[in-house]
Amino acid sequence: MYSVGDKEVPFIKAFADKKGYNIKMVDQPLNDDTVDLANGYDGISIQQTSSLGSEKVYEKLANFGIKQISVRMVGVDMINLDAAKANNLKITNVPVYSPRAIAEMGVAHAMYLLRRIGIFKQRMLEDHDFAWSKDMISNEIYNLTVGIVGLGNIGGATAQIYKALGAKVIAYDPSYNVEYEPFVEYTDFDTVIKNADILSLHTPLLPSTENMIAAPQFKEMKDTAYLINMARGKLVNTADLIAALKNHQIAGAGLDTLADETTYFSKKVSAEDVPEDFKELVHMPNVVITPHTAFLTKTSVRNMVEISLNDAVKIINGGYSKNEIRL
Ligand code: NAD
Repeated sequence: MYSVGDKEVPFIKAFADKKGYNIKMVDQPLNDDTVDLANGYDGISIQQTSSLGSEKVYEKLANFGIKQISVRMVGVDMINLDAAKANNLKITNVPVYSPRAIAEMGVAHAMYLLRRIGIFKQRMLEDHDFAWSKDMISNEIYNLTVGIVGLGNIGGATAQIYKALGAKVIAYDPSYNVEYEPFVEYTDFDTVIKNADILSLHTPLLPSTENMIAAPQFKEMKDTAYLINMARGKLVNTADLIAALKNHQIAGAGLDTLADETTYFSKKVSAEDVPEDFKELVHMPNVVITPHTAFLTKTSVRNMVEISLNDAVKIINGGYSKNEIRL
């Protein structure tokens, strides 16, 4: 297993003990420099966003007798799929590991904003201000309309939680899924934008979804609404978001993703490497930011490990996995 982080180790050890497998863990990603570490093993599992390197990596894996690469995450864009196919390497990913993890983080952001927790904290810390002023009166979820854009696995899990809390849930998704009918009222994009007290984004990043929330949408949104983005930073135009917050066009934002996050989220960086838009947003009391950690629960990490290893074993034994990427 390549790129093993310390958060995964207990789950990998537990799985290896339960199944009686010999699993070697290394912290480096798979590439030209590290491919030889796989020699002598039956299969491999990776989790990285960096390229696997040259075609030699794929040739070497095939020469070692390896038949698969199981990816412990959703994205497989770091793999040269043509080279994998040419070397008879089957690729699997983990497309669904815990939609609930991301859904719960979105609801946590919304609750934090709705109940002014960050604002209370800032006032108490900075001004010894413990007052119960009029602007701190909150609303309760069951009085609110939650708008969901992108009603797939995560949007659907989010809808179910809000529905259970008593909110009215409306959603826009170009594809209809009968499974979510008990929890939401399907409607069009503009109706969601205009009516949502909490607007929660759960679409993939596509040319059609990039900047889907920008100045025109902020203009349409309620000035009491909260924007929650647990999906991809580029769904939102960051400059327009900052302007909308400054101009009080919306009440606040909960963000687990930012447009240029890959240079600093998931690692410790020096002060000069922290981008200006992050600094501006993070200092706003009505904004909460987490560094792409909505997925980071025990259930998710365990599922990424176990689904990926189970798929590796199935393919090593000549079987089939429903998570195979079509090559
Ligand atoms: P999914 O494929 O199950 O659902 C995505 C939904 O978006 C689909 O129903 C699709 O029809 C819909 N959609 C596509 N284009 C749309 C549009 N223009 N308007 C409205 N809906 C549209 O995916 P998912 O598992 O629910 O994941 C959603 C996104 O969440 C991922 O693409 C990813 O960007 C993000 N994500 C974030 C984290 C995190 O930790 N923050 C973790 C996993 C995934």
